[in-house]
Amino acid sequence: MTTRLTTEQIERYSRQIMVPDLGGRAQMHLRDARVLIIGAGGLGSPAAFYLAAAGIGTLGIVDPDKVELSNLQRQILHATPDIGRHKVESAKITLTRLNPDVDVKPYPVRFDPGNAHEIAADYKFIVDGSDSFETKFLINDIAIKLGIAFSHAGIVRLQGQTMTVIPGKSACYRCLFQAPPPPEEILNCQASGILGAVAGTLGTIQATEAVKFLTGIEEGLLTDRLLIYDAKQMRFRDVAVQRDPYCASCGDPASKSASA
Ligand SMILES: [Zn+2]
Repeated sequence: MTTRLTTEQIERYSRQIMVPDLGGRAQMHLRDARVLIIGAGGLGSPAAFYLAAAGIGTLGIVDPDKVELSNLQRQILHATPDIGRHKVESAKITLTRLNPDVDVKPYPVRFDPGNAHEIAADYKFIVDGSDSFETKFLINDIAIKLGIAFSHAGIVRLQGQTMTVIPGKSACYRCLFQAPPPPEEILNCQASGILGAVAGTLGTIQATEAVKFLTGIEEGLLTDRLLIYDAKQMRFRDVAVQRDPYCASCGDPASKSASA
């Protein structure tokens, strides 16, 4: 039951409809798409902004936290008057103001093993904007299990990395890193700092990957390679990532039992 775009939608999205790789049909795919953003922080903010602006029909946003003053340097969905408000609520206000066509579904909870399946099952693509390794591995494993493509990203200080995973087709996050690092090796934003614009670059790449995937521009997706961004040197490089047949998440069952 695909309906045509309205005159207003054609005008709103005209600059991306003009792009030869996109066009009106792609815009209809975006309007019918459902994307889940996990984390309304430094990565989730720019990703959600551009996905809402691009006309994604349904945007789910998961985050248990409330807006704090120290978030505002990078979490651009939220403004000073939002301090103390749930991030998902603040996100919904901001995104609806930008584009009332988008149905923003707020989940003011931590994405955890108890709710991950139920929340994620409804979505076609996931943007991992989380800041903990535990959540990153959970997102990977649930996405592989449910067959949902997703964009991974991580940021620290003046560096970031990102990779897109298509279950059953490309290497997953667990093919690259088998398990979370020990706690003493973990650098996170809270402990080590982050430049807001670095998070912005990575979150924007994630939004681009989501749009490409949802509109069928699959050949150039960031799959089977990890893109590393070094803002201090202002260099991007990518490292090939191979699918691991023994991967605990996406490896084939025969290899898994052979290795057990
Ligand atoms: Zn894997």
